[in-house]
Amino acid sequence: MAEQLFECGKCGQLTPLITGSVWMENEIIYEFAECEKCHGKTTIFYSDKEIRSLLIKQKNTKPGNYREKLATEIQDRMNRLRQEME
Ligand SMILES: [Zn+2]
Repeated sequence: MAEQLFECGKCGQLTPLITGSVWMENEIIYEFAECEKCHGKTTIFYSDKEIRSLLIKQKNTKPGNYREKLATEIQDRMNRLRQEME
């Protein structure tokens, strides 16, 4: 199986996808991918309690309008949280 590669946001090289997560304040989890070349971290997403419960809800929802709505809401919240964190 081919390795999953991603382009590092810091050095721009292709690197195997090594992901990790860190617990931050206020029960926020920071999910990142770490570059094998420069060890820079690229943000995948931040999630708080609310976002994580929405993600579970989304997983348990059948495809359809409601699921789409959940996906949009999750994306919105993730974007907002990321702006707050960075
Ligand atoms: Zn890099």
